[in-house]
Amino acid sequence: MTPAGRGEDSVVARAWRALEQIPRVGLAEFPTPLLRMKRFGAALGGLDIWFKRDDLISFGLGGNKVRGLEFLLGDALARGADTLVTGAGCQSNHVRATAAAAAHCGLRCVAVYWGDPPAVIDGNYRLTRLLGAEVSFTGDSDRASVDRGIDEQCVRLRTTGRRPYAIPRGGACALGTLGHVLATRELFLQCQVQGIEPEAILLAAGSGGTHAGWLVGKALLGYPWALQSIAVSRDAGATIAQIQRLAAEAASLLGVSALLAATAPPIVHAGFLGEGYGIPSAEGTDAIRLVARTEGILLDPTYTGKAMAALIALRKAGQLPFRSVVFLHTGGEPALFAGDGAWLPDRAASSPELSCVL
Ligand SMILES: *Cc1c(COP(=O)(O)O)cnc(C)c1O
Repeated sequence: MTPAGRGEDSVVARAWRALEQIPRVGLAEFPTPLLRMKRFGAALGGLDIWFKRDDLISFGLGGNKVRGLEFLLGDALARGADTLVTGAGCQSNHVRATAAAAAHCGLRCVAVYWGDPPAVIDGNYRLTRLLGAEVSFTGDSDRASVDRGIDEQCVRLRTTGRRPYAIPRGGACALGTLGHVLATRELFLQCQVQGIEPEAILLAAGSGGTHAGWLVGKALLGYPWALQSIAVSRDAGATIAQIQRLAAEAASLLGVSALLAATAPPIVHAGFLGEGYGIPSAEGTDAIRLVARTEGILLDPTYTGKAMAALIALRKAGQLPFRSVVFLHTGGEPALFAGDGAWLPDRAASSPELSCVL
């Protein structure tokens, strides 16, 4: 089976061609590995589960943000920018990857963080500074203060003769979303080569750009994957709204707005955020430990750990009745090196949870 519409001059074929013609800076080598998690799947009662290892993206310690940055860098360079300006919380994977991308392309990077400077320079914040980004803090614990901070930094840079390129908080914008449309085709082709037919794709949703790109890509491929995400940053309603906005913007860039409008709305699971974005949850920690001890693979406490906790709980509740699933491992491991690790209390190596989850 080939992706729907390829080789014909259909709306879909034109969309794939349009996508290939949008400027992009190659930062990493693709495809990322698609690996079967046999022992973890057995611990889940015999689920055929595969990890799409975007945590292994071969640039800047990886993670899903690199996919979007390839397009954002393409645009920044085409516009003659000399400085990338972006922001988020100081443990942001997106800001770390942006700092790496800027360095790689000979650009400067200004990072705007909400809140105040942390007492300890660790995790992604340490890496972002090591990569040469200039950092500033809004002094306001409201995450939206970053959006104003990015605008202010761009104004300041312009007055000093620099050419800033603003990347929205978390990289959530239409161009960034396109990186995930490409990922969809990448996985589709990889499944063909490996001879597997997963029924569902599961992922963590923060800003929603990744899910949005997969939604558009799935519509272009016309492939009947179930596509579901777990909200780890906002409530389900706000997450769905973000995904729909970003998907609509990306679809419009590719001339497939009507195709997208005809697809079902995104499915987003809520109830796994715990105390809040970036605060590890007990269930997420258990999921991280289980994957670590069955597979030797590390998830992160902010995104993939909570998404995996959801997969485990929903599966237990009979709400994910799939035989085979691809879990997008979107990265985030540097967060494991932030803070004192008090959220990860030690547990005996042979705790019963490992032998029987379901
Ligand atoms: C940003 C991020 C996500 C979520 O991606 P969005 O496109 O913001 O929804 C998931 N996992 C990791 C590790 C991330 O850094």
